[in-house]
Order: sequence, then C-alpha cells, then structure tokens
Amino acid sequence: MTDTRHTDIAIIGSGPAGLTAALYAARAQQTVLVFEGNQPGGQLTITTEVENYPGFEHGIMGPELMDIMRKQAHRFGAQSVYEQVVAVDFDKRPFTLVTDRDRNYTADAVIIATGASAKMLGVPGEAAYMGYGVSACATCDGFFFRNQRVAVIGGGDTAMEEALYLTRFASEVVVIHRREEFRASKIMLLRAKQNEKIRWITSTVVEEFIGETLPSGIRRLVALRLRNVRDGKIWDEPFDGAFVAIGHKPNTDIFRGKLAMDDNGYIITECKSTRTSVEGVFACGDVQDHIYRQAITAAGSGCMAAIDATRWLETIRHTAEVSV
Ligand code: NDP
Repeated sequence: MTDTRHTDIAIIGSGPAGLTAALYAARAQQTVLVFEGNQPGGQLTITTEVENYPGFEHGIMGPELMDIMRKQAHRFGAQSVYEQVVAVDFDKRPFTLVTDRDRNYTADAVIIATGASAKMLGVPGEAAYMGYGVSACATCDGFFFRNQRVAVIGGGDTAMEEALYLTRFASEVVVIHRREEFRASKIMLLRAKQNEKIRWITSTVVEEFIGETLPSGIRRLVALRLRNVRDGKIWDEPFDGAFVAIGHKPNTDIFRGKLAMDDNGYIITECKSTRTSVEGVFACGDVQDHIYRQAITAAGSGCMAAIDATRWLETIRHTAEVSV
C-alpha cells in the first residue's frame, strides 16, 4: 500500500454524470479526482453517433463527446485517475477509497457516478455487432432504423417500452421472448399488443447475432439465429437491427450495505437532490436513475451533485471554523 492521497471531492465514474460533476466541482475551486474505472468515458464510449446531445447540430461520436467532456473538466483542474475503485469506507470522514492498484485515497466528499450496465445475452456475434446493428438503447439508436425491420429481445417493461418507441421508425418490430408469459406490466404489454407494427416470437431464444462485412469494410447485422425452446427448431430470421432489452444492472456492488438502495440495487437519493443516505456522499446519473437513463439527464444530475457536494463542504467547513 502506498501513501494516501487526499482530495476535496472524489468522483467515482467518468461518464457524462461524473465528468459534468468534475467540471462544476473544479470550477467551484474544489480539488477533484475522477476515478475513471474500467470503462473510461462510460457507456457512450461503446455507442457510435450521438445525435440527441444538445449543442451538436450534426451529431457527435460517443467517444469524442466523452473526450471533450474530460478535457473541459481538466481545463479547470480536475484530474483523472485511471484506476478502478474496489472498496470504500463511508463510516468515518474523510472517506476512504481503495483502488485496484492497491492505492488509498481520502476525500472530504464523494460523488458516485458509476452508472448502470445493460445486461447482455452473451451469445456469439453480440459484442462484434454492438453499434453495427446491435444496441441496448432504442432512444439512442432507434432513429438509425427508419423503415427497417428490427428485433427487441426481452419480455419486461423495458422491452415493451423499447418496442413501442421503435415503432416510430422501424417498418416492423419483432419482440423475441424466451417464455409465453410476460414479466411486463399489463398496461405496457397491452399497449404493445395493440400496436400493429409489433409482431411476437415467443418461447424462443437468440443463439447468435449474424452479420456481414460490406466491401467498404463496414460491419452490419443481417439476421438472428433463433431457437424455439419448445420444439427445438432453429432458424435464421433476417433483421437490420436488434435491441437487447433484458434489463440493466446498476454498478453498485462495492456500495452494498453502505448506502440505501432500492430492490434493484439503484442508490436512493433524497427527493430533488443527489444526497444519499450517508452525509457527504452524493450520487448522480444512471446509478440512481432507472427511468430516464440519458446522457443529458446524467450530465444534469452530475451538475446537481457537484453543487450539492460543494455547498455541503462549505457548510461543514464554516461550522468547523466557527467552532474553533
Ligand atoms: P425485467 O427484469 O423486468 O425483465 C427482463 C426481461 O428480460 C424478462 O422478460 C426476462 O425474461 C428477460 N431476460 C432476462 N435475462 C434474459 C436472458 N438471458 N435471455 C433472454 N431473456 C432474458 O427488466 P426490465 O428492464 O424490463 O425492468 C426493470 C424494472 O424497471 C421493472 O421493475 C420495470 O417495471 C421497470 N421499468 C418500468 C418502465 C415504465 O414503467 N415505463 C420502463 C422500463 C422499466 P423472463 O421473464 O423469462 O425472466
């Protein structure tokens, strides 16, 4: 274990929430360390073009957007630490963070922006065609499938919502679900069932995402290899796009038992703030939001977290000065 480094505010996570929090906190004259984690830049670094982030009239590539956000935060003094936080101690202040390099850091305030990860099927071709026909976010990528045939895999509310959203663009949306019964709420299921653009393939699982490489070198998805779990029949069904919608998992394992969370593991924040159940620890972005999950809403809540943390630090510092 090496020497402990101290910072005013430690930000865990480097997606739009974490980097916006870093920008605001650094501009507010706090020393800021951003722990970039094992996916610097977060989920946007695995998307291609982002067309719905305000300020970029012609769209911007996800990795480039995150690079700009990082540089903007660095310009005001925030520093990136390319390490993964693997343990935290929120029982006493300053808070302690331990990273995968076995280094110790302390912080007067902590902002958690570790995000959530879309659950994936883990079958052949899924990773290879991610961003080239395979997606886990209809709001992000649906627009690219105008008048095309797309699949949505899953049977919960997320799958219904994604399928309904995609009907705005796609010529046909096929929901592929592994059972006959749906986990989705009745109202969402009914709404999807009533939509004429949506077709259903049930008791069926995806065995493989099949694609091709065009002469230009661009990869694209062309079909899904499906297997009916009842009769074992296997066939290739042509699709231009496939949206995996089998749920999200908030990245909160290291905070279990240390912060209040809901049943799905999302960090609970106090109404209209980013305050968590531990004073001095704040949470922003997808790690505390399973509803909106957008880069812009994550960035907005990152700004809120920086303001909440800075104000809280000013209050405790002022109280400490008064009591001296
Ligand atoms: P859920 O866990 O509710 O549903 C996941 C679905 O994916 C299930 O149908 C499940 O099948 C299927 N699935 C899981 N793993 C696999 C796999 N490996 N292969 C194939 N299928 C798989 O997750 P959601 O994201 O849909 O919802 C999470 C929470 O968020 C819920 O409480 C939901 O109500 C809420 N939500 C609410 C919305 C709204 O109100 N507008 C919108 C979106 C979500 P099986 O059923 O067989 O297990």
